[in-house]
Order: sequence, then C-alpha cells, then structure tokens
Amino acid sequence: MGPVPSRAMLHLFDTAKGGVVAFEPREPGKVSMYVCGPTVYGPPHLGHGRFSLVFDVLRRYLEWSGNEVTYVSNITDVDDNIINRARSEGRSEAEVAAEYEAVWWQAMDAIGVQRPTVDPHATAYVEHMVELVARLVDFGVAYETSDGVYFQAERIEDYGLLARQSLDSLRAGARVESSDEKRSPVDFALWKKASDDAVSWPSPWGNGRPGWHTECVVMALDLLGEGFDIHGGGQDLAFPHHENERAQSAADGRSFARYWIHNGFVEVDGEKMSKSLGNFTNLMDLIDRADPRAYRLLVLRSHYRSPIEVNEASVADAVAALERLDAFARRTRDLVGAPDPAAIDAFRDAMDRDLDTPAVTRLLFDLVRRANSLLDQGDEGAAAPDAAAVREISGAVGLQLRADADEVPPEVAELARRRDDARAAKDWATADALRDELQAQGWKVEDGADGTEVRRA
Ligand SMILES: [Zn+2]
Repeated sequence: MGPVPSRAMLHLFDTAKGGVVAFEPREPGKVSMYVCGPTVYGPPHLGHGRFSLVFDVLRRYLEWSGNEVTYVSNITDVDDNIINRARSEGRSEAEVAAEYEAVWWQAMDAIGVQRPTVDPHATAYVEHMVELVARLVDFGVAYETSDGVYFQAERIEDYGLLARQSLDSLRAGARVESSDEKRSPVDFALWKKASDDAVSWPSPWGNGRPGWHTECVVMALDLLGEGFDIHGGGQDLAFPHHENERAQSAADGRSFARYWIHNGFVEVDGEKMSKSLGNFTNLMDLIDRADPRAYRLLVLRSHYRSPIEVNEASVADAVAALERLDAFARRTRDLVGAPDPAAIDAFRDAMDRDLDTPAVTRLLFDLVRRANSLLDQGDEGAAAPDAAAVREISGAVGLQLRADADEVPPEVAELARRRDDARAAKDWATADALRDELQAQGWKVEDGADGTEVRRA
C-alpha cells in the first residue's frame, strides 16, 4: 500500500509569516473574515473591484467547501476626503457618504460580489474607538499632542512585521514634517482633534474623530472576536494600515487576525500602453462599458498576488472568453448528471494551492474543449459529466454562465437598433454591414414586423 494521501487542505500565503501556510480556522467549519471596505467619497476604482472579487472568490470557495463564513467588511463613512468633498459641495458628510455608499453596493451587485454578513459603519463604533484609545493612553503606549493622540509604534517589539521591514528601516524611510510633535516618524494617529466645524465626537482629548487604523481594529474585534481567522485587503493596506491595526491590538493585549491575506495591484496605465487602447476610469465605467462578469474572469485568470492589467484589450479578451463559456452553457443546458469527480478534485487541488485560479480557468476551458469534441461526435452521455463540472466549478467561484438562448446582450440589441435606423433612412449599405456584423457574431437576423429580430444561430 502506498502512503495515505494527506487530507486536502486550503493553503494560503500569509503576509505575517512570509510564506504559504496551511489554513486552519479558529473553529472547525466556521471561518471569520474581515476585509477592509471602502472610504465612501467617490466612485469605486478598479483596485476596489479587484480586492472585492478576490475575497469574494475566497469566501465562496470556503462556503463551497462546507464552511460557514462570517464575512465582515466595513464602510468608512468619516474621513478627510469625505469632509473635504462635503465642504466643497456645500452638503453634509453624511449625505456624501450615503451617496457613494449606494454607488458602492450598486457596483458590488453588478460584479456579483456577495454582500457581507455584516457591513459595519465606522461612525457607529466611535464610542468603542474612544475606549480603546483611552486604554492605550493608560497603558502608556499612546500620547496626546496638540492635534491628536498618537500611538508609539516602537513599543511594539515586532512592529513592521507586515511590511516585512525592521523598525529601523521604517523609521529611516518615514516622512518627517517639521511641525510634527510625534515622538517618532513611525508613530500614527489614533485620534484627530477637531480643528474646525467638521463632524466630530466628544472624547477625553476634546472633540475629534478616530484615525482610520483605530476604526478597523475596533470593528474587527467587536464583530469577530479575538483570534479571528482572516484579515484581508489589497497589498497597499499591509503597511501601514494593517500593521497599525495589529499594533493596537497587541498593545491592548488582544490576539488579532490569525492569517493576513493581501492581493496584488491593478495596473491601469502601464507605460507602454498606447493611449488609443483607452482605459477604464473606474469600476463604474468598466461596468457600463463591458459585461461586468468579465472583470471576475480577468481576476480569476491571474493569481491573486500578481499584478493585473485592466484595459480595453484585456477586458475584451475576457468578454470573448465568457462568450465561449456561455455558448457551452447553452449547448449543454439540457444535459443532466453528476460532475466528473476528477475535474472536481483538480479544482479543489488548484484552489488549495494558495488559490491557483489561473489553473482553475485553464481547467474550465479544457473541460469545455473536451465536452465540445464529445458532443461533435454525438456522445452526449460522455459529455454530461464535463458539462456538470463546468457548471459546478463556475458556480463555486461566482462566475454565472448564461445558458438562456433567448437572452440578447445589450450590445447586440444596439446593433439591431442601428440596422433599423439605417433601413429607415434607406442607407442599405450600412444596414447590410450591420447585418453582416450580427451574423459574424453568431446571430440569425430576420426582418420582423417591429424591425430587426435576432436569435442565436
Ligand atoms: Zn481597514
């Protein structure tokens, strides 16, 4: 008998440990996650879209694997940017925050990100933030200055862990401002005293508002408790934001996140990129101009820790790949049966290897190719397990395939409408060109009573 295969187990890259480690939740079968959410003062950018998709995929995979996931993601609804916008537009901070929070959820729904189990708003937790800051002052790790209360980073022995840098090198790299009353350039604000009529809360240090790092540490511990499982966010949050959360928790004598997961950057304007390619200005722009599912596929096609390039070309490529998957879903929608177990094992293996989603997308397209060729040979019975595996795996990573043959995408409806306009104007050359274009995209074009009618060829 050969060696007993080890039980399948999710492995993730933990920034704090600097390597890939086995993931074991605090409580078997239950996973607690805190993912830093947006500061709501403008439309979400592409980086917001990426972290939301990366952690949505992780959450869905954990759920698919049988875990109950508590997913907490905050809304930062007080901040300098919100205050500045409110002031320049002559309205309240709450109005600005409410407007852009609505835009945020609209974007998340469009790209298919599941709503968090809890979505705490920073302004609802200020009392607990004041209590934490007061404790840190009592413990002697925080001090008051004329503009706020600061945390003494050097009091934390391994400060810099998430930056993978020593305190000395962080200190050397920190920006020093001449007006600074900070004792060290690495110290950070826990509380900012109100200097004007901006929104503020009472505290032992006068009216003011909490620092961002204090918001997240309080909400994470309040909602998930000590030693919760995963703290996630974009790579840019690892330092200083996450490190400063960790430092406060350590100074408060409470154990914090057990695993730190960070995703890579979005590159929008690579130097070599031609301007004519065009770029998406933000996530809403991408959703307006392309199939929103394309961003998820684009994210899945790259490893979550690698940078991705989001531009017209890479999105168009993902849209074309989605069309192949949709066409397969339509072709196989009547095939029933259980998924091919080997394909499901391959999916699990890839995901357990630090979320190797590029391997998962290759697996999906391999299954599509194999099943299509079986169907070409008329072997529906042999194709059915592959088709079921494609449905299962796509669903597990949140990729909704469209098996509905009658659904006409908006861009196709637009071509049909333009053809009708051309015919009304007796511009036969344009009408014919549009008909050809529709046919080239795989549509049957007919002239109905109400104008151009299209259906799948
Ligand atoms: Zn945060």
